[in-house]
Amino acid sequence: MDLGALIKNRHVLITGASGGLGAHFARLYASCGATVTVAARSADKLATLVTELQTQGARAHAVPLDVTSEGSIAEAFAAAEAAQGPIDVVINNAGIARPSMAMELSAEDFDDVMNTNLRGVWLVCSEAGRRWKAAGRNGVIVNIASILGFRVSYAVLPYTVSKAAVVQLTKALALEWARHGIRVNALAPGYILTDINREFFETEPGQAMIRRVPMRRLGKESELDGAVLLLSTDAGSWMTGEVIAVDGGHLVSH
Ligand code: NDP
Repeated sequence: MDLGALIKNRHVLITGASGGLGAHFARLYASCGATVTVAARSADKLATLVTELQTQGARAHAVPLDVTSEGSIAEAFAAAEAAQGPIDVVINNAGIARPSMAMELSAEDFDDVMNTNLRGVWLVCSEAGRRWKAAGRNGVIVNIASILGFRVSYAVLPYTVSKAAVVQLTKALALEWARHGIRVNALAPGYILTDINREFFETEPGQAMIRRVPMRRLGKESELDGAVLLLSTDAGSWMTGEVIAVDGGHLVSH
């Protein structure tokens, strides 16, 4: 089965697409012939990405989005659909970490992580779900969780709590929305080098963490492609409420 062919001509909206995994997903979907809307706060980075994708012949458009703002989410969906037609797939990828040991963690950082990683995912799912239900359309959501939704680590308390909650949010929405033809699944990546963790992996604890991964290396962005395409296409048409970990075996290590 050619997973990429199954997403051709589908409209995929990716949050947090101005860099890291989100920009990688945008390139992946564009290379498969999908129509791509990239959304984030950094307009300049999005513009550069859209130019790159369009130069390669892709249908791509950028919309400003702050997932902590309901108004921004509503405007982003409206702008995306006005520019490129109805959205078929939403990849909820925007996320922040704010590393800090628990004793030093500020309430502001706790709230910021929760507002982005949990409340933001819920708000984006809600906007998508209501639009699909009102239009009588099927839809697919892939929430980018993390293996830290299943295990804990030092100095990422709100992050790990938010990702565990995203796993439950995914299952709760899958339960309620299956009847509306909306599938909600999650991808739980292991560690992949991006801006969110670059500093950590330059430290000795970061290198020690890599040695604890059974495959003894960080993942590559492209090693998420099969799983995200499975969840976002009809290859996964009977999957909902599922969370797939792609992590070099990290979750089975101790
Ligand atoms: P990056 O820091 O490289 O990218 C995060 C993205 O989120 C940026 O594009 C940023 O764009 C966007 N973002 C942050 N806050 C907001 C906001 N309020 N509204 C809209 N967009 C926002 O991180 P990664 O690419 O590594 O992470 C992407 C996702 O993958 C995250 O959810 C992360 O938790 C998850 N993940 C990453 C892993 C890894 O090892 N890299 C492992 C497991 C999960 P901008 O600042 O322009 O808004």
